[in-house]
Amino acid sequence: MIFRTIVTFILGTCVGSFLNVCIWRLPRNKSIITPRSYCPSCRAPVRGCDNIPLISYFVLKGRCRNCRGKISPRYFIVELLTGMIFALFYFNYLLGNFPPGELFLYLLLTSALIAITFIDFEHKIIPDKITYPGIVVGLLASLIVKHQAPFIFSHIPELNSLIDSSLGVLAGGGLLWAIAILSKGGMGGGDIKLGAMIGAFLGWQPTLLTLLLAFFVGAVVGVILMLLKLFTSKSLKAAWKKRKSFIPFGPYLALAALVVIFKGQAIMDWYFRIF
Ligand SMILES: [Zn+2]
Repeated sequence: MIFRTIVTFILGTCVGSFLNVCIWRLPRNKSIITPRSYCPSCRAPVRGCDNIPLISYFVLKGRCRNCRGKISPRYFIVELLTGMIFALFYFNYLLGNFPPGELFLYLLLTSALIAITFIDFEHKIIPDKITYPGIVVGLLASLIVKHQAPFIFSHIPELNSLIDSSLGVLAGGGLLWAIAILSKGGMGGGDIKLGAMIGAFLGWQPTLLTLLLAFFVGAVVGVILMLLKLFTSKSLKAAWKKRKSFIPFGPYLALAALVVIFKGQAIMDWYFRIF
């Protein structure tokens, strides 16, 4: 059990290594397939032995072998994070919390969310090249990995599952779209498509919970950051004006979706017990 979890961790760091390529290339409109990995400063191709996840970063002390240019710690962080989340998912799968199909689907969703989080942090955009295919994959996957959604069509599990996935797209995308209209630009188009993608994967109920959680965490962090900013800004008004530049919404959605996958049911149970 421990051995297999470690193997999954290593596999996760390799996926993280690929996500790093996506994080650097997608916002720059470069192909993620060719050419092979190269140093962003001197363009020298990265040799196979310098491309080992986590270890290479240590061996090279965070610098390019060719030009000694600094390699962003983001490479190490993404590899470690992906490895840890993969191991966490696999461990839960071994405990019987997810069937194999669901495990694979969640790993796919997590990989997309990690790439989106780091791209959104750095560039304040969420690439359509991730969210559009994500919506399609989520919808199609609902035909294979059935959602547990109580509908009238429950005697046809495929249809039931596809309806749940489609309602997820409408709930996630639609609500954020409505907020974008009402707040006049407080929510970006990328966030709307990300909401729709999460909806396609999770179905409508977990998606609503994801949105609630993302807004809640976003509001708490936003207030804390604004208070910190108060000390450097001249007035509360100036801090309020700058609030949008604090942190983009994508990372909150991604984090909330992960929490809901693991603890969604527990959160719902807890909520209904109290109210
Ligand atoms: Zn270099």
